[in-house]
Amino acid sequence: MVDLTKIQNHKTPFYYYDLELLRATLRHITEAAAGRPVTVHYAIKANTNPVILREVAAFGIGADCVSGAEIEAAISAGFAPESIFFAGVGKTDDEIICGLNAGIGCFNVESIEELSVINSLAVAAGKTATIALRINPDIDAHTHYYITTGLEENKFGIDMRMLDKALDTVAASPALVLKGLHFHIGSQITTAEPFTILCQRINRIVEHCRNRGVEISIINVGGGMGIDYDNPEANPIPDFSAFFDVVTNGIKLSPGQRIHCEPGRAIVAQCGSLISRVLFVKNGMDRKFIILDAGMTELIRPALYQAHHVLKNLTAAPGTGTEKYDVVGPVCETSDTFAVDEILPVTHRGDIFAILSAGAYGESMASNYNLRHLEPPVFA
Ligand SMILES: *Cc1c(COP(=O)(O)O)cnc(C)c1O
Repeated sequence: MVDLTKIQNHKTPFYYYDLELLRATLRHITEAAAGRPVTVHYAIKANTNPVILREVAAFGIGADCVSGAEIEAAISAGFAPESIFFAGVGKTDDEIICGLNAGIGCFNVESIEELSVINSLAVAAGKTATIALRINPDIDAHTHYYITTGLEENKFGIDMRMLDKALDTVAASPALVLKGLHFHIGSQITTAEPFTILCQRINRIVEHCRNRGVEISIINVGGGMGIDYDNPEANPIPDFSAFFDVVTNGIKLSPGQRIHCEPGRAIVAQCGSLISRVLFVKNGMDRKFIILDAGMTELIRPALYQAHHVLKNLTAAPGTGTEKYDVVGPVCETSDTFAVDEILPVTHRGDIFAILSAGAYGESMASNYNLRHLEPPVFA
């Protein structure tokens, strides 16, 4: 996955992106969607690197954005404004106006309060806003608590019991055009079950809207498709067809209705690796530590979600023995740990590591805590 000859002389840490793999992934997802009533939007927060955005936009995929700056980044990367959807529980007035002026395709609205604000801003601007109501379907996605978003206790979406009030608010808002229902139940979901339950809820909600005389044309099932963090090299491209089958079989579509989905991670995770050098191999009293020059500031997923990424020593001589290590970063936080008790080839100062499956929520969540500096990415 990582070509050592291309990176050996670069200063670390940096992200390495395999654009061939990204394109292969994009080919798979667009081909899988083309044969089905499915429209794909890339959730750009997973990776907003402009080179990545341009690659995705070139496939004619839409963009799911969660801030005004993301809308601007999507437009400059070549996404068509009408293919940009805008989600998020806390849109500012400026961001809403940015979306209205850009002529984006849809605002995914997360509260009744937000409906009123978008309506007033659109009236003042002499525009109409196409909207979808984001409904919280109260589904446990069986993923890490910090990445569940569809439970009643989460801050996201409109509680199902408030749907009627939301529909009344839309009906009384002259600048709002309701086209869709939006759901997003969590991230890194690796079984079909939560999505199957979601489809059943969706069918009931669409039926409820129809009984109230409201026809829904866009049924957006959100993102959340998981990837294989344990075996990225054996499994570099997620099974998009299988996922689309779950939602197209689960949702009863009427004529004129389409399913929309917004994968982020599933599109970009496997094409990115974080490349880092070993600063020290430190012998503690009863543990050995590999101290990398990359840490939670470059890839926060292990510290934030207890995530595990495959760690590869790219420079270990073939046939060297193995040893048990804790692999850590240099940042002054104990959570700055990539792995505990990891069996790896015997490692030395100066070895180069690739931290795999880091293309999603890696570079886009990097910070400069400790005034740290990430080197520019390398594209292959
Ligand atoms: C984050 C997010 C996504 C993408 O989630 P993935 O797990 O990366 O697929 C999609 N839709 C919404 C509304 C999101 O907030």
